[in-house]
Amino acid sequence: MTHTRNTPASQAESLVPDLDAMTPRAARAWRERMAVSVIGSGRYTVASESGGSYTVDLPGKRCTCPDHTMRGERCKHLRRVAIEITEGRLPRPGFRAADCCVCGREAFVPETTRLPLCEHCSFAPDERVRDRETGDLLVVVRSVDRRADEVDIEALETTVASHPTNRAYDPGEPVVEAVYPGGDHPYSFPRSRLARRPRTAPTADSAPGATG
Ligand SMILES: [Zn+2]
Ligand SMILES: [Zn+2]
Repeated sequence: MTHTRNTPASQAESLVPDLDAMTPRAARAWRERMAVSVIGSGRYTVASESGGSYTVDLPGKRCTCPDHTMRGERCKHLRRVAIEITEGRLPRPGFRAADCCVCGREAFVPETTRLPLCEHCSFAPDERVRDRETGDLLVVVRSVDRRADEVDIEALETTVASHPTNRAYDPGEPVVEAVYPGGDHPYSFPRSRLARRPRTAPTADSAPGATG
């Protein structure tokens, strides 16, 4: 059999959890219809199938239900919150759901962020980007949790938003600081002015198994 680079790395197995192999408590955490909502600071409200409503403190590993308070068990509510976080249905402690302020997509962002950015719209430090106005290449220093109309460019006595080259961008966008390669002075840009540089795609010549 010929292995191509598209060969899947995972085994042929079901991803459905085997409820019969679990303890009854663990299986109920998966099976029962529970509604979970985020309170904040790692706390969640779980409305159970039987009509009860309990508060889970995930970092503290506590729940207000009798199974936990009376019997000290890791109850189905604690387990359910952990499952929903792992499945990407709920934000983990310290995060909240919010609409990205650039593209509008819903994302889980740090609780204290004023200007939420989705994974696609946020830059990591040291990421290489391109200035859409000039074509210059830059390196990201950090995203600033402040709007372009709140950040001053002191030398020019203007804000980032009202600088002439930035008028086409939303003044409510977060500011990103970036340096020119080899430079150390950070310049401030509205987020959308900087474009992520696409990763270099492998060429046909370097792809294994390619034939001419
Ligand atoms: Zn509980
Ligand atoms: Zn976005």
